[in-house]
Amino acid sequence: MHEIDGSYGEGGGQILRTSLALSLVTGAGVTIGNIRAGRPKPGLLRQHLTAVQAAAAVGGAELEGAEMGSARLVFRPRQVRAGQYHFAIGTAGSCALVLQTVLPALLLADGPSQVTLEGGTHNPMAPPFEFLDRVFLATLRRLGASVTARLERHGFYPAGGGRIIIHVEPVRAWQRLALLQRGASVHREIVATVSKIPLHIAEREAETLRFRLNWSDAEVRSVRVTDSPGPGNTVYAALTDDQGHTEIFTGFGEIGVQAETVAKRVAAEVAEYSRSSAPVGRHLADQLLLPLALAGGGEFRTLPLTPHTETNLHIIRQFLPLAVEVVQAEDRTVRISLSTTALLPPCLQNAISPRR
Ligand code: AMP
Repeated sequence: MHEIDGSYGEGGGQILRTSLALSLVTGAGVTIGNIRAGRPKPGLLRQHLTAVQAAAAVGGAELEGAEMGSARLVFRPRQVRAGQYHFAIGTAGSCALVLQTVLPALLLADGPSQVTLEGGTHNPMAPPFEFLDRVFLATLRRLGASVTARLERHGFYPAGGGRIIIHVEPVRAWQRLALLQRGASVHREIVATVSKIPLHIAEREAETLRFRLNWSDAEVRSVRVTDSPGPGNTVYAALTDDQGHTEIFTGFGEIGVQAETVAKRVAAEVAEYSRSSAPVGRHLADQLLLPLALAGGGEFRTLPLTPHTETNLHIIRQFLPLAVEVVQAEDRTVRISLSTTALLPPCLQNAISPRR
């Protein structure tokens, strides 16, 4: 039984999700204390509780402390089963984050799975659907995973009501991934979306972002209206290089914040990424560590490390025998290399060598 301190480092929900994901994958139970102690409303909120229940459903786990507000959880998995799953968060909590809790186990399961998630698909502080699909899952595909995602309906904060459907095949053989160099840019686009608020908000965001980035009119791909149960708005810039790697930077409309301000914040993130030569953006950096560890290692170069990345590395090392090398270059980019230092748990060895 692993003991994890949920207040470590970043002290957020990722510690819980990574711990559950690795408990499922290794079969080892886990107790997590001080859950989300670093957040203004600590403990399990609706989204985290759904992640716990989703992990318990996928792994037939016994639970203690799985209640709203709980700061301590005991999770004892039995056996991971592939299948048809449906998880409804009931608020605008992030579908992507619930998915990331169970996806590693389903990638190593005994058959294909389909996961339907209902809740938020485009909410602040979480991967929006386009990032999930075109950045995170796209990188998993390069690692050898066969996983597809479909957005059926947008769900914005606070109404939620979005729906995504994910199809997962078990990994037959992991590929080694080294994302070290940014390739030449082959595609850039700006997309702004609104639901139940005036279209001019999306138009102003797209134009401000285009102007700030000095991109062409043709690179504003769309300004669109979507039908979601509640009001909401996002604007994102996507950049794809000739190595097939995409990064996406997203802004979320907020009451009382001007469309131009939302767009300027996104522009600042894109400009920082564009100035750097690192291919992997800050958000993908923290999310990629777990899949790379499951794949038995790999490496990537990214921007200066965030607390999320440092904390996630620490948690993953509580479960898996990993050697980690972190090297900061003069240009402030950081190369992270992961390799396994001992035999992986049997379930992972199976996945790493071809199955058939
Ligand atoms: P936590 O704060 O611990 O719940 O973790 C939030 C997760 O969402 C981390 O993996 C972040 O990298 C990710 N995240 C937050 N904002 C974005 C964004 N705009 N795009 C992609 N991922 C995000």
